[in-house]
Amino acid sequence: MGFFRKASIKQKLIAIMMLSSISIMLLASMAFMVTEVYSFRQTLLDKTSSLAKILGTNVVIPLVFRDSQSAEDILASLRAEPLIRQAYVFDRGNRPFAQYVNARTGNPILEAEPIVPACEKLPEAVKVRKESYCFSFDHLALFQPVFHQGEKIGLVYLHSDMDILYARLTRYALGAVLFIGAFSCVALYLAVRLQNLISGPILHLAGMMKIVSDRKDFALRVESRTTDEVGKLVDGFNEMLVQLQIRDDQLRQNQQELEQKVDRRTKELREANDKLAGTVIDLEQLKEAAEAANRAKSQFLATMSHEIRTPMVGILGMTELLVQTELDDRQRSLAETSYKSGEALLSILNSLLDFSKIEAGKVELETVDFDLGHLTEEVVALFAQNAWGKNLELICDVAPGTPTALRGDPARLRQVLLNLVGNAVKFTDRGEIVIRLALHQDDGETALVRFDVTDTGIGISEEAQQLIFDSFSQANSATTRHYGGTGLGLAIVKELVGLMGGQVDVESRPGKGSNFGFVISLERQPGAEIHPFVFTGLRILIVDDNQSFRLMLTKHLHALDLEVEAAGDAPEALDRLRAAARKGTPFTAVLLDADLPSSGSLQLVSELRRDPALSKTPLILLESPLPTSEEIELRDAAVGFLRKPLRLSQLGPKLTEFLASGGGQCRKLSPAPPRVGKIAPERVAGRILLAEDNRDVQRLVRIHLETRGYHVDIVSTGKEAAGALQSKNYDLVLMDYNMPEMDGPEAVRMIRQGGDLTPIVALSAHSGNDHRERFLAVGVDDYLCKPFKQQQLFELVDKWLNFTAADME
Ligand code: ADP
Repeated sequence: MGFFRKASIKQKLIAIMMLSSISIMLLASMAFMVTEVYSFRQTLLDKTSSLAKILGTNVVIPLVFRDSQSAEDILASLRAEPLIRQAYVFDRGNRPFAQYVNARTGNPILEAEPIVPACEKLPEAVKVRKESYCFSFDHLALFQPVFHQGEKIGLVYLHSDMDILYARLTRYALGAVLFIGAFSCVALYLAVRLQNLISGPILHLAGMMKIVSDRKDFALRVESRTTDEVGKLVDGFNEMLVQLQIRDDQLRQNQQELEQKVDRRTKELREANDKLAGTVIDLEQLKEAAEAANRAKSQFLATMSHEIRTPMVGILGMTELLVQTELDDRQRSLAETSYKSGEALLSILNSLLDFSKIEAGKVELETVDFDLGHLTEEVVALFAQNAWGKNLELICDVAPGTPTALRGDPARLRQVLLNLVGNAVKFTDRGEIVIRLALHQDDGETALVRFDVTDTGIGISEEAQQLIFDSFSQANSATTRHYGGTGLGLAIVKELVGLMGGQVDVESRPGKGSNFGFVISLERQPGAEIHPFVFTGLRILIVDDNQSFRLMLTKHLHALDLEVEAAGDAPEALDRLRAAARKGTPFTAVLLDADLPSSGSLQLVSELRRDPALSKTPLILLESPLPTSEEIELRDAAVGFLRKPLRLSQLGPKLTEFLASGGGQCRKLSPAPPRVGKIAPERVAGRILLAEDNRDVQRLVRIHLETRGYHVDIVSTGKEAAGALQSKNYDLVLMDYNMPEMDGPEAVRMIRQGGDLTPIVALSAHSGNDHRERFLAVGVDDYLCKPFKQQQLFELVDKWLNFTAADME
């Protein structure tokens, strides 16, 4: 079949014709030969039968007289019949009586031998009284009974050879082969000539198809030479060509129209493009102008905030000093209001500056090691007094297992938290504020941390939630006017969290509260390990009226492996304490909110004192950010106290300290020692050089430092500062950034190049990182941003002069 798939029509036709004629000839030859075989066999049978009959008649007498010689003579007459290979006469007892063997082919049967059955019919033939025969492949065996007076007296057996048949058949076969060969040549000749009648038109059609497809000339037509199927095929092809020609003409026409259209459109497009290019140039100019305006705006904001910050140093610093002097109540209230307004103004200024920087794309995040737990707790601590003043519970909940030794930009993260917690405190009048941190995902190298700031404040409507992250937008101008603000805080939060790879989400219901949250990825500090505190077997009772606080603390104490129970008020606490004592499983310590409503804490402590079974239970007080006198009174009964908002990082170490020191005994705690030591005015603690051009700042720093016993020399330019250091020894230099003649960084560079290693602290009204970095690059040792608080200045100067209150005693 492979041939028929690959061969051409011509080859197929020839093959079909040849196969049919050869098959016919083969079948005819075979039929002839089969006929020949049958007719030969019939002739042979007839002839052998006639001979057997004649012989049967002739051998009666020799058989009767048992004259075998005569019988053999009679059989010898068979010599004239070359077909007979053997002939036997058997007597009545079926014993060989006479025999004839054709000298050429036959074998005589031995006298003593019994009759060898020449065919399967022989035994039967011996018994029956009529002629019988059987054909085998190469001979015919025929038995003719011999009768005398109706009695069977013997048997003639003739064995005829069929070699002649096979010789004849071989001849016929040879003849047939020769005939078929000759006939095939004739058939081949005819097939080759005749196939042209069929394949010719088809090949002609195929050739024309190729020409049409090569030239794409649909005007050509194929001449139809026959009316048969091929003729119809040709007609169909011609019809198809007509259709194609019509389509082709239409197509060409359409194409021409299309080309004209494209040309027209291209022309229009080119004109539009030219117009657009003109617009782009205009727009680029506008963009450059806008960018220049934006730069100018940022520059203006930066300069303005620097210029405003500098006098703010005077306002805040002097007011801070004023508050510390002897004032009557009215004067103090006025001075404090002035200080608070100054602080509010500064916070607005900072927001504006931050926002202008973010808008100008100037904010770059740094990556430094920091402790996330401490950072959050510090931020929360900043709002402790504010929240307490509004009677709000402020809870910082860093979930157990959250990694805190991380790398990132702590300053920016702090700014985000300050804004969110600040808003929560600002917009909440009752209830609680919870700052939650939890590990979202951790792959060992980076931690995805989720931050949530939840409050029970005024809430935000759904529509307003869409707007509050836009700059200068506030949820409700009426209420916000009451609370104050610029509408920049959340815009800054959104941008900063975005820079850190996160997105701020908000959930809020008016009147119920709000939750602001985001997830950011922070690198883990390599090798930082957490050393968990474990208090297995110890039992703690928490007594606090705020349920969220109780739940949060229970969770954290569980994490320290403590057994925890919690009570919401004094009676419940007493019940639990007594029940535990009765069961023989007393509490190891009680963590008591020192500010339970209706003096509940005081009541509980006096009940405990009265109860001998409970009087030894160690108490740990949970004090308010600004403890009342009642709370301070309670300290007598406690082994220690913790301040709210609770610093969870301190929980383990503090519990260890209190439980070790308590031992069941109430310890009297003295109030914390004052941080600032009093010093004799004449005693000089260190020489400080202040390089600052603003007279108010000069005066303020001098007052601050001189009250602390330092000697302060003042210069107004960087050049003077470098000169002063050459002529005198100083323990510390405070260096302003912007000064006439030579600015701060330039002066520091000069000083360091001269080999002077006096510690230098930079003072700058620029809050940005770039100024700080410029200073650090030339070799300053520390940096203080203006305006600063007295305490900040003292801490910094003390740090560098290694001066502590203890040193002064
Ligand atoms: P600001 O607080 O200075 O007005 P923000 O951008 O921080 O500006 O906030 C925008 C507005 O979003 C606020 O004016 C206030 O209406 C709303 N808002 C922000 N935080 C809260 C909150 N925790 N509860 C209720 N409203 C809030």
